[in-house]
Amino acid sequence: MVDLDGFRAQTRDWLEANCPAEMRQPMRSEDDACWGGRNAVFKSEAQERWMRAMGEKGWTVPDWPVAYGGGGLSAAETKVLKDEMRRIGARNPLNSFGISMLGPALLKYGSEEQKTRFLTEIARGEIRWCQGYSEPGAGSDLAGLQTKADDCGDHWLVNGQKVWTSYADKCDWIFCLVRTSTETKHGGISFLLFDMASEGVSTKPILLISGYSPFCETFFDDVKVPKDQIVGEVNKGWNVAKYLLGHEREMISGMGLGGGEAALLSNSLAEMIDDPVLAAEVALFDVDALAFAAMSEHFIDQLKAGEAHPAMPSMMKYAGTELNKKRHELIMAAGGSDSLEWESERSRGGKTAREWLRTKANSIEGGTSEIQLGIVAKHILQLPGA
Ligand SMILES: Cc1cc2nc3c(=O)[nH]c(=O)nc-3n(C[C@H](O)[C@H](O)[C@H](O)COP(=O)(O)OP(=O)(O)OC[C@H]3O[C@@H](n4cnc5c(N)ncnc54)[C@H](O)[C@@H]3O)c2cc1C
Repeated sequence: MVDLDGFRAQTRDWLEANCPAEMRQPMRSEDDACWGGRNAVFKSEAQERWMRAMGEKGWTVPDWPVAYGGGGLSAAETKVLKDEMRRIGARNPLNSFGISMLGPALLKYGSEEQKTRFLTEIARGEIRWCQGYSEPGAGSDLAGLQTKADDCGDHWLVNGQKVWTSYADKCDWIFCLVRTSTETKHGGISFLLFDMASEGVSTKPILLISGYSPFCETFFDDVKVPKDQIVGEVNKGWNVAKYLLGHEREMISGMGLGGGEAALLSNSLAEMIDDPVLAAEVALFDVDALAFAAMSEHFIDQLKAGEAHPAMPSMMKYAGTELNKKRHELIMAAGGSDSLEWESERSRGGKTAREWLRTKANSIEGGTSEIQLGIVAKHILQLPGA
């Protein structure tokens, strides 16, 4: 029987000693997120110290095995750690597609060498990954992808184009879906890992409506990739891709929690609302948000235990992203015309409006809401023809 009270006390002491005061302040903008990587740019010394301390302890990925850089914690201990971090308002030490997407896929499908090398680098924030799934002709119809990898004996030769590759211009490596056979659509896809500094890789940023450029077009022109950088078997990458998507959708569904703050919108907007109709809408939103938070905790437990229904990530992604869009609609409504300020210092560079615009992408990224509803209709409601 694990002594959870003892673990809580030790965790509290460790966090007290290692979490810098600055890292207990709420994030002011997306810029405050720490992404690590070989060219990491830290916003402050405290941010770097926090990431490194948590990385060394294995607590950037508390429930991964110690052998792969994790903390080796049980599900119950992981919850205690999260509780204790929330209690002091500790920031997430490391944002990482390696942690939320590639890691779970490597744990299930990676070779021992891939796990030892990449998982450890991910846990310590030493490598930053991007996702090469979507292509100009393959978004919702992802298996229609055309980027090809030719078998050249001792290496793969990759040619093609990806699009909407988040942070491709800032990442060190890419996990990439490629076509290794044209015989069948889903059965001709492989899952490759390669260095973005490889000869023949180039990126071109795409500007968003919010004024930011978080993603790119990514081009591959005769990129040589070592043979052992394939994950799983040749032509069986679709299984890896789908498994990873489940974890991506779990991560995106977390947007429904509004950044993890337990604060009710009716409290945080209280002084801005004098319209009773809007106040009622906000109260109804809070009821949905509380229900979502309870459901989310249950879902993550099931997913980690490998017991989630295959359509659950789609259901939660749909619910979480619709909730987040509604949250920002209400914040805009409560702020009135002030919310539309775009550049002033008073509006912190249009924070409210830019965050609201960013949420428009929530129901597209990681697979659109229509696609998630199609999956739910097919696998949960068992609707014919869905
Ligand atoms: C902010 C953001 C970040 C992203 N980051 C990445 C990334 O890092 N890497 C990456 O690979 N991709 C990324 N994407 C791409 C994302 O996965 C795709 O945009 C998404 O899968 C939709 O594909 P599409 O844009 O080609 O739209 P389309 O597939 O062309 O869809 C257009 C419209 O048609 C609807 N539609 C299509 N097929 C069906 C159907 N069968 N039933 C009902 N409706 C349908 C869709 O719901 C949508 O409304 C990102 C997207 C965004 C917005």
